[in-house]
Amino acid sequence: MTACSDPAPPAPPPPVEPYFAYDDPIGPEPGAPSQYHVAEMRWGDAFSTCASRIGVNGREVDELVRALDGYVDFTKCRPGQWFEIERDAEGNLSWFRYNASVTDKAIAYRGPDGTLAAYREPVAVQTATVTVSGEVDWSLYAAMDAIGEEPWLTLTLVDIFAWDVDFFTETQKGDRFSIVVEKRFVDGQFIGYGSVLGAEYAFADRDRKHRAYRYAFEDGKVGYYQANGKAVEKAFLKSPIKFASITSRYGMRKHPILKYVRAHRGVDYGAPRGTAIWSVGDGVVTYAGRKGGYGRVVFVRHANGLTTRYAHLNGFGPGVRTGVRVRQKQTVGYVGSSGLATGPHLHFELLRGGRHMNPLALVSPPAPPIPEEQMERFSTQVAPWVAALGTVTSTQASSG
Ligand SMILES: [Zn+2]
Repeated sequence: MTACSDPAPPAPPPPVEPYFAYDDPIGPEPGAPSQYHVAEMRWGDAFSTCASRIGVNGREVDELVRALDGYVDFTKCRPGQWFEIERDAEGNLSWFRYNASVTDKAIAYRGPDGTLAAYREPVAVQTATVTVSGEVDWSLYAAMDAIGEEPWLTLTLVDIFAWDVDFFTETQKGDRFSIVVEKRFVDGQFIGYGSVLGAEYAFADRDRKHRAYRYAFEDGKVGYYQANGKAVEKAFLKSPIKFASITSRYGMRKHPILKYVRAHRGVDYGAPRGTAIWSVGDGVVTYAGRKGGYGRVVFVRHANGLTTRYAHLNGFGPGVRTGVRVRQKQTVGYVGSSGLATGPHLHFELLRGGRHMNPLALVSPPAPPIPEEQMERFSTQVAPWVAALGTVTSTQASSG
């Protein structure tokens, strides 16, 4: 018997006691009408191990695993997940709840026929759309932390603007950002972010500002576009350094001064050893191996006769070898100092038809814009986020 055949469970469990993070140390109380126990999974625990600590025997474990088949995968229990059990006055298990997460709770209860039935506890998730803003002091991570937001939001912001902004080298004190983002709550408790609906990044000392809005096509595909319908996505990323692999402690004071030296034929990015390097565009690896003073290198051939080269690597990305295809944002290697390098850094080159070019000056073709016939739908959909970011900007302007 499962919840599928019985959608209205007759015996919902009683209200839960305040949650303890520890195994319930209270044993059976003489004369108590029922007993409630709670246990939390620890590192290395199997469910049965953890359950035995609150007196659930092997037969009961088998019964629970059977009853909750399809609701809880007991082979994938993780530390921090917890469960509750209540026994009646005779000591028989009357109900059990497995709390896999705030939004994933499954219950087994003893029905009138004496067998355990199961159902998933409905969880009401509230979603609120909010606009958050911050100013960079010494790092983007720190700025996000300062306004009470999580690193996920930093990485998502970086991801949205990866074609226009090199957050590794261009971020500076006084830069401002605003993000329209969905936040999800259960009982008023924040449980995570939904989608980023709009974002803005404004440089402090330049008349340069980037904005992007999320658009969901009718077929479910999603992309980020400017208000005029131009795609944010481009053929090449602004930076070969994967920002997400830079630790939050690596502030922008350590940022390398970048410039293209013709005789040197490339640009150097000073970055911690092991920092991931991603391919700036889709392409084919024409060479992955050692090459004299370059040390370990990866050469990637792209469309339009362009080739990028990544040198002095500490190692290659997973599966990266001569002849394989790589996608934009795929890790091709890690920063190192192999070959003739005084310290860990990435030496990055761009060539067209065999001739070296300045990668910092590359103008990258954008992905297709919103099709003309969808512009009205697009404008309607993004209007609230355009308005939300507009409000933020004017508030900033008036406050100084
Ligand atoms: Zn170099």
